[in-house]
Amino acid sequence: MQPGLAASRKIVNVALLSCVDQNMAKLRKEDLQTPVSIWREKDMINGEKVDAFVIILRTTGCWWAHKKGCTMCGYNTVSAPVTEEDLRVQLAKALEKYANEKMVKIYTSGSFLDDHEIPSAVRKDIFTMFSAAARILFESRPEFVTAENLASIEPARSAVAIGLESANEEILRRCIRKGFTVSDYEQAAKLLNEYRIPLRTYLLLKPPYLTEKAALEDALASVQYAAQFSESVSVNPVNVQRNTLVESLWTKGNYAPPMIWTLIEVLKAGSGKAECRLLSSPSGGGAARGVHNCGQCDKKLLSAIEKFSYSQDPSEFAGLECECQHEWKALLELQDLMFTGVDVKRQATENIIE
Ligand code: SF4
Ligand SMILES: [Zn+2]
Repeated sequence: MQPGLAASRKIVNVALLSCVDQNMAKLRKEDLQTPVSIWREKDMINGEKVDAFVIILRTTGCWWAHKKGCTMCGYNTVSAPVTEEDLRVQLAKALEKYANEKMVKIYTSGSFLDDHEIPSAVRKDIFTMFSAAARILFESRPEFVTAENLASIEPARSAVAIGLESANEEILRRCIRKGFTVSDYEQAAKLLNEYRIPLRTYLLLKPPYLTEKAALEDALASVQYAAQFSESVSVNPVNVQRNTLVESLWTKGNYAPPMIWTLIEVLKAGSGKAECRLLSSPSGGGAARGVHNCGQCDKKLLSAIEKFSYSQDPSEFAGLECECQHEWKALLELQDLMFTGVDVKRQATENIIE
């Protein structure tokens, strides 16, 4: 076990999976034919800030989530047994709202390149439907990044995001339960590099069972590793999602999301690696379930992170100070001394009953 990996490991998994399956049975036809969500945001293509149109399609979901699932992932609560026709209706509805944004991001809460989620014929049609998009970004687990599947997309207009989470094999297996290895990722990354398809690698900041310091070191080592294959690396701090193993640990005070100071440290120390853009757009930032600080400085720090994600200039973080920085520094030392990744503050101040 890595130093900093906490000893206790209580796996409560079966109940979570059956909860997902019950959710699938409840959805009506109308839900099956409506995208989970659509919104607009900014992103970057070749150093240029562009408008991005984001669609979350409802699909059968990630096969791994149905089998065991990653410890922090609750995405399958939006999955359902959709047909190809359902998917086409969802896409037609999305297209009605599309305003020719330069970038389109299509998320499936799983793998776009998995035929069970998006049949190859639908993938091909998506490139025709969004013909105004210079880039279509989608997510995939590495096992679906194959020459055969890449034949169903337009490489010159594609970008692929892979959730590597950590470049440490042991953390990937024991803490995240990712269901693939670092070398699986590397094989997929090299194939994408060969096809000149830009790769965005997602890293998970503070998987369960790690101390704050071990999480910081793991993220930094992972940035260093992933940058060599990636056009961009997105550092995603854990957001405690419902019906996940992480949530069950968090509820009992055995897990705390990272502090914003840790995220800033990763971005500062990790910036300037190769030609790779380093970014973070934390979901749940500032909330109890997401990356947060004392509540007084969160907004200011999150805004600096957003600016850095475009400018890549570490001076965005210059002059940021708060009382809670002392607490953060103490946390980095204390958890390692105690050899525990539990929420030390909550365990000390609340009467938590297991
Ligand atoms: S691979 Fe992705 S979608 Fe599948 S369980 Fe893991 S985090 Fe969730
Ligand atoms: Zn603060």
